[in-house]
Amino acid sequence: MVSSPLLPLEAPSPAHICPFDQACSYLDDAGKELQLDAGILAILSSPRKVVTVSLPVKLDNGEIQVLTGHRVQHCDVLGPYKGGTRYHPAVTLREVSALAMLMTWKCALLGIPYGGAKGGIALDPNLYSVEELERITRRYTSELIKDIGPSVDIPAPDVGTSAREMAWMMDTYSMNVGHAVPGVVTGKPISIGGSLGREMATGRGVMIAVREALALQGKPIAGTRVVIQGFGNVGGAAALLLHQAGAKVLAVSKGSGGIYNEQGLDIPALKVYAAEHHRNLVGFPGSQAITNTELLALPCDVLIPAALENQITAENVNQVQASIVAEAANGPVSLDADRALEKRGVLVLPDILANAGGVVVSYLEWVQGLSYLFWDEERVNREMEGLMVNAFHRVVQQAKARQIPFRLAAYTLGVGRVAQALVDRGLYP
Ligand code: NAD
Repeated sequence: MVSSPLLPLEAPSPAHICPFDQACSYLDDAGKELQLDAGILAILSSPRKVVTVSLPVKLDNGEIQVLTGHRVQHCDVLGPYKGGTRYHPAVTLREVSALAMLMTWKCALLGIPYGGAKGGIALDPNLYSVEELERITRRYTSELIKDIGPSVDIPAPDVGTSAREMAWMMDTYSMNVGHAVPGVVTGKPISIGGSLGREMATGRGVMIAVREALALQGKPIAGTRVVIQGFGNVGGAAALLLHQAGAKVLAVSKGSGGIYNEQGLDIPALKVYAAEHHRNLVGFPGSQAITNTELLALPCDVLIPAALENQITAENVNQVQASIVAEAANGPVSLDADRALEKRGVLVLPDILANAGGVVVSYLEWVQGLSYLFWDEERVNREMEGLMVNAFHRVVQQAKARQIPFRLAAYTLGVGRVAQALVDRGLYP
């Protein structure tokens, strides 16, 4: 496998699965299937630019703490870099690099003119006050001022960040350059040029991918038993939309654990309950508490991991009972587990397809901002659905034509498009 000279190796540990190595493995598979030139593959295996910054921040108690932030720009052959900003204690440079690479293939697969990037700060946002988080976000943005911009690199929310952090990033960038630049981020509040429909977009895309996959198997969405790990931006929206479409959402979870009801949970009522109980799910009337390990092994038709990487691994893959696994999170199924699911005939909807609704609406937000013309939510959802359904069926056709699994089909489409653009542009100088 080709690896990047820009990234430090992580200490080897048998239990640890490196997300960047895993991303390179999928790229290698696509490279073999497409018979890509070794030089092209080497270029695509390494991020173009890696920025690591030191973030000194004054805490509310007067102490100074120094955090570390990253922004990795994987490839901008198709257009400006695009990717989320993650605040989580497990953030590492190799993880951010893997996520940046996934963004490149995702944008290419969906046919949107962006390259891939990702950013992150290793911190637990729950341990900081709002004022501290604002200072951290503003310092991080200032450190990246020369590396981001509406035609350079456009951050968005990811795990641990939301419209609030995007507003701080947009304001900091604008103050530094001396005029308002709403297009520097997407996923921002509506008041400063955010798009209607963005908040639910990734979850809506997941619902569309699941609906199309069920249709492929000749099954209706109504009555389908769904289990969702993670009840945040993505998992929460997917749960609500699947519930509204008639699916039975049997279980959902947070990092601290989950809840289960064999008959299906009332998701709108659960949202209200979580808002009233400090986002805790346990104790929701009519449900029983379960662990995340138990959740992944529940009998169901569709399993949706919507939290973090490597949740379904060689250790627990045999317990998965679903016939469809929709990767709402990025990289939730490890390489070994992916192969095992494929052997068992489980249909895995890969992250670069299943969770692409978010970047599609980010793109629509950017387009609306650049044209100073804002659409109603119905139009945003319609345009997004069109791009998602189109990409889904291109993956189905590719899988059929080449007799390959869904993930490889999606990768060959995404990687192939970037490789072709690289060849057409030629190598500078
Ligand atoms: P979020 O922070 O809003 O939510 C994450 C959820 O996962 C929370 O409910 C958290 O409690 C839960 N969680 C954390 N660790 C867990 C564990 N070990 N077991 C079970 N639950 C756990 O984040 P998000 O924005 O919803 O992102 C979730 C995933 O979706 C990430 O992989 C992210 O990269 C991916 N994604 C997000 C977007 C987006 O638009 N936000 C777009 C594409 C992909």
